[in-house]
Amino acid sequence: MALIVQKYGGTSVATPEKVIEAARQVRAAREEGHQVVVVVSAMGGATDGLLRLASAVTDLPVPRELDGLLSTGEAASAALLSLALNHQGVASRSFSGAQAGIRTDHRHGKATIVQVDPRRLREDLGRGMVPVVAGFQGESVLTGACTTLGRGGSDTTGVALAAALGADHCEIVTDVAGVYTADPRTVVGARRHTGLSYEEMAELAVSGAKVLAADSVDYARTHGVELKVRANSTATGPKTWVGHGRSAGGPTPGDSRTADGQGCPIAGVAGRSGLVRCVLRRISPDHVLRLLRELAEREIEVELRRYGNLGTEDAGDIALTLPEESAEELRELLADTDRGIHLDEAHWTSNLARLSVVGLGIGRRPYAPLHLLEALRSVDAARADVHVTSNRVSVLTGRSDLAEATQIVHDTFVSGPEMPAIHPVDPDDADTTWSLTAERGHLDVELPALAAAE
Ligand code: ADP
Ligand code: ASP
Ligand code: MG
Repeated sequence: MALIVQKYGGTSVATPEKVIEAARQVRAAREEGHQVVVVVSAMGGATDGLLRLASAVTDLPVPRELDGLLSTGEAASAALLSLALNHQGVASRSFSGAQAGIRTDHRHGKATIVQVDPRRLREDLGRGMVPVVAGFQGESVLTGACTTLGRGGSDTTGVALAAALGADHCEIVTDVAGVYTADPRTVVGARRHTGLSYEEMAELAVSGAKVLAADSVDYARTHGVELKVRANSTATGPKTWVGHGRSAGGPTPGDSRTADGQGCPIAGVAGRSGLVRCVLRRISPDHVLRLLRELAEREIEVELRRYGNLGTEDAGDIALTLPEESAEELRELLADTDRGIHLDEAHWTSNLARLSVVGLGIGRRPYAPLHLLEALRSVDAARADVHVTSNRVSVLTGRSDLAEATQIVHDTFVSGPEMPAIHPVDPDDADTTWSLTAERGHLDVELPALAAAE
């Protein structure tokens, strides 16, 4: 008998029929002899509806109250699923995040889980019941107020409860049959992975593959929780395991073999849209430090920072790429002259997206950025800021080009007749992060000193 945490996402409980089906699958797991704790998201679209409701009454919602409002989406679906379970003869009670013992810091809208006390859930499990926990929420250890964990946060609730309860694994039940080499809804030829390592999955998640929230993968890696991602239509169909090492019958992370058994060293292609780029020209190193401090103190999310001072004068240029939601905060910061951040010019480019190819060690393959830029030559995409790290090669494109560019890059790196040349990876070669910016006719390459000498 195993102890399993099953997390049902928004599309898996979007209608009463789907709630009834989810309850059936929980009951089936119970009948197989497993103990089950269920985590549930708000019914599909409910969170967006609540956000619209809030913006209809204010354009500056008080964070505490907004979290109170948003948390009701998950509270409703948890109670509804519990009703369905009881109707099917499975004794069940629903819990808010706070009741389930999820404690967080006090950052409303983007809280981090700091502690989990699953005593009440254990008591119910001991009575043979199925606890259903409202995902995406917790209770601030500082204020006791209800907090939310950021979009997609129910994944993190599922993983955190699995860790605290010592569950055998956490099942992420969603509307696709696992983790694919690209979004299977939009990319033709996307292939399902049978096993992925935490590192690959984390990189895919931060690159924009929203099948798992990035925080949940980090939490799973830190606490060693194995994840099974599967479709809501059937509990016994195809799936993807995400985990550490190999285990019998479990995941085979690392080799990323695809469903058809073909070797696939590329974990996938993912895109993140809604980005804005701000280039600040002729800003002195002191003011760059001030700016970075302000950004950090206000927790303004910045995706990528590049600072270049070519040494001819005391000032350089800094380029920040950040999500649209954060851009307004940056504008306010720069406009606030009291902050003393002086610069000559600020250039803004909006409607951007970042397209990434993810694969362990891809940044150490000399051909990867070349293949990426070559592939994109046929698309009329604005290509700037190619950024290479050990496990990812990314390029900034226009938002409207993202879909076409993703398909082409996937065709090249994953489904192409020839895989791009793979060169042996030297494990000692740690310093591989470099970047190449092709912008307004200039090519700016930053690379490790040894390589530069060549
Ligand atoms: P849930 O409501 O279950 O939390 P999400 O919408 O958050 O589901 O995540 C599932 C969606 O993630 C899929 O419908 C799919 O469109 C998208 N997706 C993006 N990239 C990938 C990928 N690489 N593999 C699988 N699904 C992906
Ligand atoms: N309901 C929340 C959202 O839509 C959390 C989640 O679905 O995981 O982002
Ligand atoms: Mg989700």
